[in-house]
Amino acid sequence: MQVLMVASECAPFVKTGGLADVVGALPSALAPLGVDAQVMLPAYPALFPLLPKGQEVARFDDLPGGGGRLVRVTAQGVTLSLLDAPQLFDRPGGPYLDETGADWSDNHLRFAALSMAAARVCQGAIDGYAPDVLHAHDWQAALAPVYLRMAGHASPPAIITIHNIAFQGRYGSHVLGQLHLKTDWFHPEGLEFHGDLSMLKGALMYADRITTVSPTYAREILTPEFGMGLDGVLRARADVLSGLLNGIDTDVWNPADDAALVQTYDAKSLKRKAQNRAEICARLGLDAGQTGPLFCVISRLTSQKGLDALLEAVPHLVERGAQLAVLGSGEPELEQGFERAAVAHPGRVATYIGYDEGLSHLLQGGSDAILIPSRFEPCGLTQLYGLRYGTVPVVARTGGLADTIIDANVAAIVAKTATGFVFDDVSKSGLTDAIDRVVDAYADTSLWQMIQRAAMRHPVGWDSSAKAYRDLYADLVR
Ligand code: ADP
Repeated sequence: MQVLMVASECAPFVKTGGLADVVGALPSALAPLGVDAQVMLPAYPALFPLLPKGQEVARFDDLPGGGGRLVRVTAQGVTLSLLDAPQLFDRPGGPYLDETGADWSDNHLRFAALSMAAARVCQGAIDGYAPDVLHAHDWQAALAPVYLRMAGHASPPAIITIHNIAFQGRYGSHVLGQLHLKTDWFHPEGLEFHGDLSMLKGALMYADRITTVSPTYAREILTPEFGMGLDGVLRARADVLSGLLNGIDTDVWNPADDAALVQTYDAKSLKRKAQNRAEICARLGLDAGQTGPLFCVISRLTSQKGLDALLEAVPHLVERGAQLAVLGSGEPELEQGFERAAVAHPGRVATYIGYDEGLSHLLQGGSDAILIPSRFEPCGLTQLYGLRYGTVPVVARTGGLADTIIDANVAAIVAKTATGFVFDDVSKSGLTDAIDRVVDAYADTSLWQMIQRAAMRHPVGWDSSAKAYRDLYADLVR
């Protein structure tokens, strides 16, 4: 079985969030199950060193935004098809944003080109490679199933996976021609969303299957509260929608073998986490002598993540003798808010604005708890890393957070199954209540260690979800 995944990010090559982790890890998890999954990505500058090592397998002269060539290369165990189109992808900044933080003004062309190249590959006749299934991820790849369908019936089935329905690829209808999209497909039962083109809606209409990244989020996006305007479309296609929980790469995220930690550990040597905590304190300027729990946040700083509510609860967290280390970047108000909190509570709160993979591992390795107060969370990965590292997740009851963490209520404590703390109300009072519960539990060392050990036992790898994807592909091909 051959599957072509199409995405705008793939760890470890280019990453802004969880999408990259999933696209990077899933092919290796599928390989032992007989699924040969390749990943098609734009050739961003970070990938240029791979281009000379690969083989050019196709040239396109008529993609949206100009021509490009496809270079196939194997790196870190994954076969990549890189769309080398310098006019679209050779530039500084990030995959989506320029150096000032604004969206690239030609993102519609950039990702339509990626999607069209993927659809062409799936129509065969490129290097003898004929994937059995096209698997598109998020809005950046969402036109791939549309172009495939436009090409006619002899094409393989297509899946769209929604990693976050808040991002939809919505553009004015004037871009239809630039994107080589048929105008007679532009109507409410097709590509149109309130007068605009919605790339994600296109995939929801024309893909054969729709998946998202947790069972709870699959239910939530059927409602107006979470569907971001696409809940009606999804309700109409509920028969082909399913939620498959993300896993994590348990080799990359392994506290017993992690070069970013000063001290590795496992469930039997949890005390060694203290050395990583000391390293965090030294690096971020936190007091090393505090006896309360050290909370961390590793996150995009956006309102989705509920961190405005956490900011309001910071004075309470400090009063309760806890500490907080924040690693993230995003909305300026939140960045400044956490920087101010660090100034207001020296030694107790530290803020590192930026993106730092190594520091994210160290924070998982040395913190006691990880706070994830998201207003919505399709799956979430940092709570899974937290489980793996015995860094107790403290999460809002939504999406994949609700599906992966067992709250330390009385029954779960008696049954020794609690793996974290789950709260309902993303607000100052919801957060202060949750922080109180954590501080109290932390003071009871045997209870705390029981929760840590249950967390570390919880399966977070790809095993069962990779099988579910394999079954989905097999079902589609049948
Ligand atoms: P989302 O995809 O919504 O951003 P996820 O929890 O699914 O959230 O995935 C976020 C990923 O990005 C995780 O791997 C997390 O460790 C990583 N991450 C987020 N912010 C940072 C940061 N500032 N530095 C390093 N890694 C980060």
